[in-house]
This record gives sequence, structure tokens and C-alpha cells, in this order.
Amino acid sequence: MMVDTVIIGGGIAGLSLASELADRRGSGAGIMLVEAEADLAHHTSSRSAQQLIPSYGPEPVLELTRLTIPDLVEPTHAVPAPLAWPSPFVVTGSLADVAAETVPGLRTLSSAELVEYCPELADNPERYRAAIIDDSAVRTNATALVEWHRQRAERAGVRIITGATVTAARPAGDGAWALTAGGDDLTARTVVNAAGAWADHVAGLFGAVPQSLQPLRRTAALVSLSQPLGPTHPMVEDATSGWYYRPDADGAMISWGEAEPSPACDAQPRPSAIDELIETVQRETTMRITGVRKAWTGLRTETPSDVPVCGWDPRAGNLLWLAGQGGYGFQTSSALARAATDLLVDGRIGNWLSAESAAALQPRPATS
Ligand SMILES: Cc1cc2nc3c(=O)[nH]c(=O)nc-3n(C[C@H](O)[C@H](O)[C@H](O)COP(=O)(O)OP(=O)(O)OC[C@H]3O[C@@H](n4cnc5c(N)ncnc54)[C@H](O)[C@@H]3O)c2cc1C
Repeated sequence: MMVDTVIIGGGIAGLSLASELADRRGSGAGIMLVEAEADLAHHTSSRSAQQLIPSYGPEPVLELTRLTIPDLVEPTHAVPAPLAWPSPFVVTGSLADVAAETVPGLRTLSSAELVEYCPELADNPERYRAAIIDDSAVRTNATALVEWHRQRAERAGVRIITGATVTAARPAGDGAWALTAGGDDLTARTVVNAAGAWADHVAGLFGAVPQSLQPLRRTAALVSLSQPLGPTHPMVEDATSGWYYRPDADGAMISWGEAEPSPACDAQPRPSAIDELIETVQRETTMRITGVRKAWTGLRTETPSDVPVCGWDPRAGNLLWLAGQGGYGFQTSSALARAATDLLVDGRIGNWLSAESAAALQPRPATS
């Protein structure tokens, strides 16, 4: 089968690109998304904290986040459920640890204000001496966002194939690629590598330049609380140790905030990590955890610069990278989909993105 564009990977990266590209072209005809798992967003895209923080990440990520948030908070297209809403982000700890996380534009909270926002920290004033708040942070509904992109893409005519791993690629003449996906053969003029933790492996099938992507484990849990935090409670990060929590329904989502190197795999939580996390939360705050509803581990896949990679591979023709989103895959999703679409449709990223950020997204060249 011959198609124009094959997108490898059915997480937020691949799906947001499929829906944006189909919208820009006025049709999804000729676009195919291929996902290895039986269900979409099976890996990292169903395991995030669902927070979009404009003060979090290196400069290109901050710009991509500022451009993504309005798209989700006030979408120009009809959406079946809210995609994002205000959800401030507080960083608290010692004076030195909070100072290290402070960036221009963030508001300093007095001790009294911190306790007003986070009464569960009131008993630990020695540990939580300083605090800053990012009032512009928002929370997204990752499930709704992924589903919205899927529907928008499929309605436009994009073909989405699940349970089909791309296992081989070879040049098919005129710059096209012949792929084997789930045992079937297809030919594509252009291929997008949105394979998350497997993106360097997929690149290898094309003889592309590896981007030294490193998958990093992060474990989280949804827990029940004896006293709910309240729906407007901010997300809170302990600046000293990096663990964080935020309200979720009448309980909380808690995470170590760790970044432990891992091979690409279906990462699973270690029960001892959840036990230790619960112990820490209960020691440092007055929150009382009455049960664990769900625990999970996901892989945040980072480039060496911690800036995602979105650009044409310097060696393998007609292979576009859309990978290395690290801990920013949702908060940069709309802007990265737009940048990738610009490259596919116009050959260059438009000047809605600064030249510095557009350059920082380009794949690293081959070293030899
Ligand atoms: C605990 C945790 C908290 C996080 N919190 C946030 C947050 O608050 N905000 C934020 O913006 N981001 C957050 N992230 C990061 C965010 O979840 C990721 O950046 C994002 O989900 C990456 O999306 P992706 O589509 O690149 O990868 P994935 O969702 O992993 O999708 C890649 C897909 O490619 C498929 N694939 C791989 N190889 C092949 C192949 N050969 N053939 C076919 N398909 C293939 C895989 O099966 C997979 O489904 C968090 C991550 C974790 C783990």
C-alpha cells in the first residue's frame, strides 16, 4: 500500500500531529498512524501528571508551552469535554532550594499565604520556609485530549492502525520508504518518528542519526485521603527532594519526581517505592492516605539538552523526528504538532516560533 505520510507512534506526539496535519491539509487522506500496542496512548501518554507549567523547562520548552496553553484552554474547535483549566503550581522548601527554582514572573508566597493555599503544610514551617507560585499553570485532561486528537484525525480521514509494530524500513526509490508494520508492507513518501522511548531504536531501522535519547523512570500513584484537598488546591512540589502532589477527584496524585535511567520498555512500579513515598508524604504533611487506587511508572524520554527534537534527520531523507519530549510532552503538544506540520507542509517552521527555539529543536548532526 502507498501512502503519503506514515506517523510511527500513537501517543500524544503522534496523535496531535495526525490531527493538526489533517486539519492543515484539509484532509487526512494519505496519512496513516501506526501504533505497536493494541490501544492508543498505552505508554507514557497515559501515565503523566497532566500539568502544563509555563515556568518549567529550558527556554525553548517555555516558549512551546506558552504557545500550547491557549490552544487547550480556549480551543478554537468544538471539544466534547474541557481540555484544560487553571491549576496553579507551588514550589516550596528551604530558602536556597526555592531560590534555585525561581524564574522571572513567579510570585513569592509569604508563610501565611502558603498555609492558606496548602493547610497540610502548616505543621512543618521549618521545612517549608519559602514558596513561589506559578499562577499561569494549567491542568489538562490527558485522556480527553488524546481522544479529541484521535477523533479529529479519523474524522478527517487519517487511517489509524493499532497492534502493528514497525520492524523494518528500506529505501523504495525517489526518497520513499518501504516499511514492514505488523507483518504488512507499506510505502510512504515521508515518515515521522514519534515513537517515544523507542525513537532511537526506530531511527536505527532507517539508518538515521541517533539522538542519544534516554528514557527515565518516574513513578506515581493515585491515593485516597482522609480529608480531600479540594478541587482548587494547587499542585505542590517539595523543592528539596523533588516529590510532588496535586488534587485528583477526592484524593491526590503523588509522585517521587525521580528520573532513573531505564531501557525502553513497559515500565512498572516497584511496591517499595510507593510505600516509601506514602511514608514521606505522611511524615512531611498532615495528609493521611487511606488507600492506593492506582500506581504506575512511565518513561520520560529526554535528549541530552532536555529540548525535544523536531526536524528532518540529517542522514535519512524524508524522516522527520518528533521525539524527546521528556516531562513536557503535553505542555508542548500543540506547538510541537504545529512545528512538525510546518515542516511537512511548508518545509520550514513558521516565524510564530522564535528562530532560537526552531534551531534548538533540530536533530543533532552525525558526529562522524
Ligand atoms: C510520571 C510522569 C509524569 C509526567 N507529567 C507530565 C506533565 O505533567 N506534563 C507534561 O507535559 N508531560 C508530562 N510527562 C511527560 C509526557 O507524559 C510525555 O512527554 C509524553 O507522554 C510523550 O508522548 P509520546 O507520544 O512521545 O510517547 P508515548 O506516549 O510513549 O508514545 C509513543 C508510542 O510509540 C509506539 N511505538 C514505539 N515503537 C514503535 C514501533 N516500532 N512501531 C509502532 N509504534 C511504536 C509506542 O507503543 C508508544 O505508544 C510525564 C511523564 C511521566 C512518566
